[in-house]
Amino acid sequence: VTIARPRTLEEALRALGQFDATIVAGGTDVMVEVNRGHRVLSDVVAVRRIAELRRLRIDSREVRVGAAIPYAELIGPGGMSSAAAPVLYEAAKSMGSTQIRAMGTIGGNIGTGSSVGDALCALLALDARATVAGVGLIRDASVAGIMREGLAAGELIVDVYWPLARGPQRFLKVCRRAAVSRSVVSASVVVDPDRSVRIVLGGCAREPIRAEGAEILAYELMTGWHFPPDAVAAIADAVRNEIDPPTDVAASSDYRRHAAGVLVARALSAPESHRAAA
Ligand SMILES: Cc1cc2nc3c(=O)[nH]c(=O)nc-3n(C[C@H](O)[C@H](O)[C@H](O)COP(=O)(O)OP(=O)(O)OC[C@H]3O[C@@H](n4cnc5c(N)ncnc54)[C@H](O)[C@@H]3O)c2cc1C
Repeated sequence: VTIARPRTLEEALRALGQFDATIVAGGTDVMVEVNRGHRVLSDVVAVRRIAELRRLRIDSREVRVGAAIPYAELIGPGGMSSAAAPVLYEAAKSMGSTQIRAMGTIGGNIGTGSSVGDALCALLALDARATVAGVGLIRDASVAGIMREGLAAGELIVDVYWPLARGPQRFLKVCRRAAVSRSVVSASVVVDPDRSVRIVLGGCAREPIRAEGAEILAYELMTGWHFPPDAVAAIADAVRNEIDPPTDVAASSDYRRHAAGVLVARALSAPESHRAAA
């Protein structure tokens, strides 16, 4: 195995262009696949040291997070405050163990594209976009587009960004253990009182999905920034009615359907303590 450890984006893109290399950030997904024999590495480009992928910028309009910032750093001292994006902050806080949060990154979570990728779900709820770089090319793409279409050979995610929003946001998940555990079902809810309610469910399909019918209903039933109890019940029912979750070793379809409704109801019932800052 050859390992390139570039310090700049330019060096990384050159290395990616030369070999058919695997990008590794924290390695918390890649190495599990290697250890299980599901992936064989030949050439690796380690992106953790690239300055452009480690930048965090927050101004009055926008939050921009480098793809290779480990979660512990992102939500630690000097990192992103909860108010900048409560839904992503809560997702990052809930992920894995201390060790996983010390290594794992947003770029890796998007790269894996799991149905229960907690940061990915939160970013989809934020309608986040990403800067993608390839040799001689920098492009802008929605995180949803990257999830659907993937990246071209030789491309990597530099950062993700979204506009600061005013409304309440929540990330909630159920998992089989309290710690070191992936979601069985998650709900990421972002209420933008001027525009929309976005509800993204993890663990309810092959990839994270939006509960679009429930989103429309929620926006209609919102009074101020609040959801009266009968509205919450109707929105939770809409969520349950529009999904067809899989059954697997972690949970049955019925359990996931029920849990998705419960999580969305909880997210809409107590949104005030998780209001974004803008
Ligand atoms: C014990 C354990 C617990 C876990 N708990 C959770 C959890 O609670 N929630 C959750 O969502 N996940 C969890 N995970 C999964 C994992 O930690 C996360 O998905 C993490 O975000 C992966 O980031 P990474 O930097 O380690 O990715 P890596 O393993 O380095 O990479 C993952 C994939 O993304 C690609 N990639 C990495 N960076 C980039 C980039 N900048 N541009 C393009 N592609 C890139 C890689 O090529 C690879 O295909 C857990 C894993 C373990 C082992």
